[in-house]
Amino acid sequence: MFMLNKQSTYPLIVPAALISLSALLLWKWPMITELMAAGRELRAFFMILPIMPYAFFIIGVVLGWRFNNAGIVFTAFVLGLAYFAISNQGSSLSQEWAIGPGYPEAVGFLLPINIAFFTVLTGRRIFTATGMFCMLGVLFQAFMVILLCHHSGSPFSDLITTAKATFPSIGYLLSGFSIRLRAILHNSSIFGFWGVPTLLTVSFFGVFIFLGMRYQKYRDNLTAGFLATLVAAFLGTMGNYSGPSPMVYFAAAGLILIITTIDSSLSMAYIDELTELQGRRSLNEALLNLGRRYTIAMVDIDHFKKFNDKYGHKTGDQVLKMIAAQLKKLNGGAKVYRYGGEEFTAIFPGKSLRESLPHLEAYRKIIEEKQFYIRGKGRWKGKAEDRGSRPPASRRATKITVSIGAAESGQRLADPEMVLKAADKILYKAKNKGRNRVES
Ligand code: GH3
Ligand code: MG
Ligand code: MG
Repeated sequence: MFMLNKQSTYPLIVPAALISLSALLLWKWPMITELMAAGRELRAFFMILPIMPYAFFIIGVVLGWRFNNAGIVFTAFVLGLAYFAISNQGSSLSQEWAIGPGYPEAVGFLLPINIAFFTVLTGRRIFTATGMFCMLGVLFQAFMVILLCHHSGSPFSDLITTAKATFPSIGYLLSGFSIRLRAILHNSSIFGFWGVPTLLTVSFFGVFIFLGMRYQKYRDNLTAGFLATLVAAFLGTMGNYSGPSPMVYFAAAGLILIITTIDSSLSMAYIDELTELQGRRSLNEALLNLGRRYTIAMVDIDHFKKFNDKYGHKTGDQVLKMIAAQLKKLNGGAKVYRYGGEEFTAIFPGKSLRESLPHLEAYRKIIEEKQFYIRGKGRWKGKAEDRGSRPPASRRATKITVSIGAAESGQRLADPEMVLKAADKILYKAKNKGRNRVES
């Protein structure tokens, strides 16, 4: 189902490596514990290991907050809650609260659904109505899990007893629901594998497919990160709760979330959002790291101002996108950048002008011959019910051309900055000579 190519798998590599490393760690766990038991310092390190996931989640919350990404903040927060619930399974704390059977399963069921929800929140701020709604939603879920998965004799069973006394119908409904819910949560008859209950499997694979499709669409670091976080968290919830498995996998989930946040903010700085080409910052770095021989070309759309005036800025943006998408396919080992506005830069490392020109000429020709379909101007402003009777939006075909100026490194042009300037000058020569041409 997923067509993965080199570019689209790249953001998955680090998260996949982390998950594999976790699996490896768990496989060799007995050996590691033996080694660790040897020294006192190592033993101390071992003692703090279980709190490491929390450290990662806290970093995740802070980073997500700094980068205005509510999705990361809430995912880190929910992972923290889930890890707390699962790692305290059977501990004195859970006995004191008499939180009973069913709750790790409830957590395992809810976690993927929450992650799916928060993935959609990327780019939102935290202190907004949506953010508050999510916070309340998470707390409500935590409350319901504790309430419904209680042992008799817990503070919460008192709550239900009181509820039964005051509002009999609600009280009985709650306790009946609690019993049935736990039965359902434990059921692993259909789709259940390795003893993982059906409901958990369904929620995990449902969300896995949802995120996989999202990744297929966006192919970005964030979605890859959420997908990998989901897998790591699921592995952490499906294993043996009392063993090291939750600790290792939840730590991996937290780390993946951190790396994802950093990677996506880096790509924000380096990648132009509209065209998805590398931006000026990347270009400047590339210029500093060129060898002795290279060719630089400046590409500029012809009469683009007129085009914008005629068809509107939005259509102009669509054209920029298409021009950039074609430029990405430029052959000859070229690296392409959006220089700014409607200007692009192509660098051919290790190539002479003579070697690069055919590729640039081929690109110019592709653009010249390409038909750009412009949707009919003006959206339907009539009544919504009349819309169906309207003829399909008229799509006019338009042509766009580009002018290109290219220069190569040499004795006269000693540094990349100068080569780029020369290419820019030559571009203006191409413009003066009538546009839609490559000059050198
Ligand atoms: P020339 O053939 O000489 O290059 O003419 P031109 O109109 O393309 O050149 P000019 O530099 O005068 O105008 C560039 C125009 O590109 C101005 C602006 O409206 C448009 N432009 C720049 N950036 C964007 C953008 O991000 N989106 C859109 N839609 N238009 C842009
Ligand atoms: Mg220009
Ligand atoms: Mg132009």
